[in-house]
Amino acid sequence: MVLEGVEKIYPGGTSPAVSQLDMKIPQGEIVMLIGPSGCGKTTTLKMINRLIEPTAGRILLNGKDVTHVNGDLLRREIGYVIQQGGLFPHFSIADNIGVVPKMLGWDKQRIRERADELLHLVGLEPSQFRDRYPRQLSGGQQQRVGVARALAADPPVMLMDEPFGAIDPITRDRLQDEFLEIQRTVGKTIAFVTHDLQEAVKLGDKIAVFATGKLEQYADPETVLTRP
Ligand code: ADP
Ligand code: ADP
Repeated sequence: MVLEGVEKIYPGGTSPAVSQLDMKIPQGEIVMLIGPSGCGKTTTLKMINRLIEPTAGRILLNGKDVTHVNGDLLRREIGYVIQQGGLFPHFSIADNIGVVPKMLGWDKQRIRERADELLHLVGLEPSQFRDRYPRQLSGGQQQRVGVARALAADPPVMLMDEPFGAIDPITRDRLQDEFLEIQRTVGKTIAFVTHDLQEAVKLGDKIAVFATGKLEQYADPETVLTRP
């Protein structure tokens, strides 16, 4: 995935939330977007999955310019995980995981099988969890379902916005390990927002350091640690 000269000025905004952003996320790698609150990390993810439209620049997925395509068309290309799962409270766990497959017209049987397969992948026993509702799950379990939901239609790209940010440190550590293990199996191209340097170093193939709307540094974790 490639971002070229990407910029976002929000309506009524005086200075750009993101400007002159050039960034490459190599296929199958995890790039960690790190930086203080308000520096444009979330805005960058939202431009990639077209929840918002860039005011300038280009975004290429697999060499295809997706800068101005309808966001709905990207649902099968891009999985999105946000803080606290973002699960629909009135949908069962299986129905939450099935949201995108349903949109894509999969039949019920296939959606059910996929939900079970993914629950198993993220370490939740399908028979125990598929018919529960999000409020009946711990924070860590909800995040696991959030990851499963994002993986449902097997998109090549995953965007993760502080997925473990609201989780206690011990569970977070376990989720990070599980996430790396899952990534070894699924090999997605991942942009992962965090404000936690330790998390960035642990999970990232590369780290993109943001500062007030600009990319300040882009390097492997070792370089970021030794040459801050
Ligand atoms: P981060 O994810 O790094 O915390 P954001 O991308 O959320 O940063 O925000 C970047 C800048 O854009 C901030 O100054 C923020 O106030 C502003 N911003 C974010 N969303 C909106 C919006 N919907 N309308 C106007 N300004 C926004
Ligand atoms: P974790 O250690 O994974 O964060 P918790 O300690 O929060 O989990 O929860 C322990 C167990 O209780 C979990 O298996 C969870 O699914 C279950 N649980 C928590 N809240 C509810 C609820 N409201 N209804 C049913 N089961 C629940």
